[in-house]
Amino acid sequence: MADASAAKMEKIVALCKRRGFIFQSSEIYGGLNGAWDYGPLGTELKRNLKDYWWRCMTQLRDDVVGYDGSILMNAAVWKASGHVDTFSDPMVECLLTKKRYRADQIEPQSGTAYYYKGITTSVNLPSPKIDMPFTVLVPKGKPEASAQKTAKQYYVSRGFKEEEITSLDLEKSEQVENSTKFNPENGAQLSEAKVFNLMFKTYVGATEDESSVTYLRPETAQAMFVAFKNVLEVARKKLPFGIAQIGKAFRNEINPRNFTFRSREFEQMELEFFVKPGTGPEWLEKWKEERLAWYEAIGIPRAKIHVLTVPDADRAFYSQGTYDLEYEFPFGIQELEGIAHRGNYDLSQHAKASGKPLEYFDEESKSKYLPEVVEPSAGVDRTVLALLCEAFAEETVKDEESGKEETRTVLRFVPRMAPVKAGIFPLLKNKPELVAKAKAVQDALRPLMKVSYDEAGSIGKRYRRIDEKGTPFGITIDFETLEGAKAASTSPTGQPIAIGQTDTVTLRHRDSMKQERIAIGDLLGFLVVAVS
Ligand code: ATP
Repeated sequence: MADASAAKMEKIVALCKRRGFIFQSSEIYGGLNGAWDYGPLGTELKRNLKDYWWRCMTQLRDDVVGYDGSILMNAAVWKASGHVDTFSDPMVECLLTKKRYRADQIEPQSGTAYYYKGITTSVNLPSPKIDMPFTVLVPKGKPEASAQKTAKQYYVSRGFKEEEITSLDLEKSEQVENSTKFNPENGAQLSEAKVFNLMFKTYVGATEDESSVTYLRPETAQAMFVAFKNVLEVARKKLPFGIAQIGKAFRNEINPRNFTFRSREFEQMELEFFVKPGTGPEWLEKWKEERLAWYEAIGIPRAKIHVLTVPDADRAFYSQGTYDLEYEFPFGIQELEGIAHRGNYDLSQHAKASGKPLEYFDEESKSKYLPEVVEPSAGVDRTVLALLCEAFAEETVKDEESGKEETRTVLRFVPRMAPVKAGIFPLLKNKPELVAKAKAVQDALRPLMKVSYDEAGSIGKRYRRIDEKGTPFGITIDFETLEGAKAASTSPTGQPIAIGQTDTVTLRHRDSMKQERIAIGDLLGFLVVAVS
């Protein structure tokens, strides 16, 4: 990662902790690699994202129904789907640090490789030579001394005392080009690749034997394939139609990294869209366009999404065509969502393995067949991270009170994604009329959207605080509001009113920092439209 991108990522991670978006899971115990918690603001953001996906994929369509399958399923599901046999990654281990990496993600390295046969020690007499091959790669032009340093660390890690190593026994050195046999972080030799199944194994019930084994689901999709017949019977849908689900998935990733991007526990938003045989390719195109438009609507511009046509060699074996929608994260262009034409692979596997027919009866043609499936499968956590990266900005502005230049950190979420929609502020906290009025505005907005109330510090500071949380609107109740209230209370009825519809407040816009006066009656309508 280039320095500027790494610095940006660090700032985003720090902001996430400072403002309560994302914390390390079980932090007080040192955390758990690949597991993250969402704090108060992160939870709202994630909920907004999932709700919007649900609304667009189910409520606003006639051809999709929802599902909520269990995480634990009969192990036969994972055998039939191919996960038990093939859901694996090649794994290598750094012989020095024991850190594990995905073999297919090792950056190729060039340089000089020093091959050590072993060491000679001042102990172990009469046979002081220890046979223990180890190789180190150093960048071209670097002296052997740096390879020796790494090799010594390796032998020390294997239990030899540094002062007892009298020499390293070099066998040979050679130039290597684009090799993936060395750890890019320290040049140490990597182990041979081993196949590693990514599913978390667990036992159901009190006996821990092979008959009670099952897995935490590594994707939500299978529940929808297995339940295809049940849903078909109750939903009274004709093809094409889909089943949508949002839920947790678990993968024992070899090397969780890039904050929440690659986690061991994460959430997916998946749609299995069943179509007539032969129409898969056309639906693949349609869903690609639908999904691109959806990302635009949550604030990720089309220009930041790269559509990768996954080459034949890299596609899952059952896929007849896959697009990966990738986002320009600060740490690189990486997958947000996969859209795959899965053919009828899943239904035919489950029909075969369960012995239950899963065909669809087509009333028009009076024939039975297995539908094809197009699956847009998106990651909740990766999309939340993309929203945070896209929204994060630092800019130099003049302090509204002192006039001094300062850095403003702001999260520019589109209002429909923002965790909190409006911050409500009485201008002064020691003026009961202002406080009462601000609370009345809060009460009026609460049933409609998430709002916050803050009376501490100067208005400028309070605006900065909501900027960092990504709250798009600030509402300040000031003396002018009360003037309106006075006028209203002398209205023909003579009754005091809690929030006068004609009283005005200051509405401050997060991105432009522009302020305008708006009548409370208009404010509610404006906000409801702006955040939906
Ligand atoms: P990758 O190649 O990055 O491992 P994948 O192609 O295996 O991902 P899919 O099986 O297509 O991923 O899963 C669909 C979506 O689920 C991904 O696009 C991603 O958004 C999300 N996802 C998959 N694995 C993880 C993970 N370890 N952490 C967070 N999200 C994930």
